[in-house]
Amino acid sequence: MEGVVDSVARFYKELPKVELHAHLNGSISSVTMKKLMAQKPDLEIQNEMTMIDKGQKRTLEECFQMFRMIHQITTRPEDIFLVTKDVIKEFAADGVKYLELRSTPREEKATGMTKRKYVEAVLEGIKTCKEEGLDIDVRFLLSIDRRGGPVVAKDTVKLAEEFFLSHDEMVLGLDLSGDPTVGHGKDFLEPLNEARRSGLKLALHISEIPNQEEETRLLLGLPPDRIGHGSFLTSNAGDSCDLVQLVRQHHIPLELCLTSNVKGQTTPSYSQHHFGYWYTMGHPVVLCTDDKGVFATDLSEEYHLAADAFNLTPQQVWNLSYDSINCIFASSSVKSNLQVKWKELKATGFSTRISAVGC
Ligand SMILES: [Zn+2]
Repeated sequence: MEGVVDSVARFYKELPKVELHAHLNGSISSVTMKKLMAQKPDLEIQNEMTMIDKGQKRTLEECFQMFRMIHQITTRPEDIFLVTKDVIKEFAADGVKYLELRSTPREEKATGMTKRKYVEAVLEGIKTCKEEGLDIDVRFLLSIDRRGGPVVAKDTVKLAEEFFLSHDEMVLGLDLSGDPTVGHGKDFLEPLNEARRSGLKLALHISEIPNQEEETRLLLGLPPDRIGHGSFLTSNAGDSCDLVQLVRQHHIPLELCLTSNVKGQTTPSYSQHHFGYWYTMGHPVVLCTDDKGVFATDLSEEYHLAADAFNLTPQQVWNLSYDSINCIFASSSVKSNLQVKWKELKATGFSTRISAVGC
């Protein structure tokens, strides 16, 4: 007979889920990293294997080290193609039915990889998974890295517009991310507005660190279609109350990544995560992984952690996942199809599981 622990784990894995905040490179698993490193025996990072294997026990510094290594081992379009396929397959195996991946197009002079080739490799990976019949619908957002400044941002917007027009609903929008201490949000308003006019959606990392009220207010004024983290929107410091009002008025959903914020030390513990604030208010929130490879987590685990920290019932967990469908960037017909899929899954046995683990 299946134990209680197993049946609870199975509930979260089989729960159909939507993932909207996943950076491609940060989502690469240890298994895929080893695969890539085996292809590059000359690299001097072979001795870092032990850190890759540390998984859950990785320190924050080791997490950053992982990012640096990842960039060294994903330098060719075929690497990007491989990691895209592997990441999609892992999300699918974790019960994710709809995924919006995001990544900064990167050029590598040494291998001749251009930003365009980078995006093409990602889209090829998505297409291949579709052809293989995986039960997951995948879309792509191009990321603007703050470190690149407004000139690079404009180029990224142009590239996104091209792919948006030429690839039927595969590229849906833009993400603004990267080191939040670098640059100022105001530098990106023009390219982001341009993207918006072209019909691209905006998912922006906002208020990841404290004392960014001015920048946050500017970015919220766009307004974005979704907010990444928004960890300090609710802080009492200064005059930030109006920021919460702005988010509520525009009804902007928040992408919340519990493990990433706890490991990244922007929140002291799971139970003190700002998920509680917005969820209690009935504001749309979507649980996401951010960087499942680097932070050694998956979306099932994130739902499980949120449920434990905030005493959510299995029915509430189900509703949280179902309501996430409303926040996707794909068209309303894609939304309806997902809603049907969720309802069918519930009708064909998931409702029994909801009551079974609801003790
Ligand atoms: Zn992120």
